[in-house]
Amino acid sequence: MKICRYKIGNAKGSTSQHVGVVEGDQILDVSKAIEILPAMRWPLEPGDQFITNLDALRTAITVLLATAPRVPLDSVELLSPIANPNKVICGVANYPEHVKATGKQPNDHGLFFKAMSSVVGPAHGVELRLPDRITVHETELAIVIGKTGTRIARKDALSYVAGYTIGLDMTMRGDEAYSFLKSPDTYTVLGPCFVTADEIPDPNALDIKLWVNGELRQNENTRRMVFDVQRLIEFTSSILTLYPGDVILTGNPFGATRVFDGDKMKASIEAIGTMDVAIRNYAG
Ligand code: MN
Repeated sequence: MKICRYKIGNAKGSTSQHVGVVEGDQILDVSKAIEILPAMRWPLEPGDQFITNLDALRTAITVLLATAPRVPLDSVELLSPIANPNKVICGVANYPEHVKATGKQPNDHGLFFKAMSSVVGPAHGVELRLPDRITVHETELAIVIGKTGTRIARKDALSYVAGYTIGLDMTMRGDEAYSFLKSPDTYTVLGPCFVTADEIPDPNALDIKLWVNGELRQNENTRRMVFDVQRLIEFTSSILTLYPGDVILTGNPFGATRVFDGDKMKASIEAIGTMDVAIRNYAG
């Protein structure tokens, strides 16, 4: 199942948010499904409420699909498919070119995190917060964790995955800490939809592509990841607890290039989809 979050039409000023199932170039509006979610009370349990309740939601969604209103996919504004991840965790140097360049394996770099406030959907676009600085695109398979776990063994790792989406890990170049360079608002783009794990039995064999203004800049396959999806979950959960809705970005393929005000990115991962993301300077 391909699940998206979206606003209808021109979203400026619109507060109407929807949940849909993507079928080809159509979205089936199943927003009513979220009525089954339990009312929230402070303090909240860690984790995204939608993913925590995914099994029950899928049952509700399946019932709604038969009569769901349809809207064209290209008529909506896509939001981040994961609304409230507890954290966005990032793998480092996870393709052979980076190992060769640095002489280090991915675990030698450890991990880093991106601020939750950096997460947007494709329709929002990326705002270059400090336009005089170099910002590059990193196009990554994003793992969405489905259930709470820590010290997860490799053999169990895929059972902790709810699904996958595309992650753009936008990055400023510089000597500052990664938290500074990678966490400006809008620097984590998730989309176009969340694809449940049952549709992607092998996440370690997916084509990844990114175009800027129609020119192919990144062209990779996840089978070349140094740490595969299972190993990333094992490594990540060796030091922390993963919660439903947590996002693990699996590392950037070779070929990150600078982006500028007015550029149009198109990111694609096999079996997930394609998303268009515009770049503009931050206007305050
Ligand atoms: Mn990255």
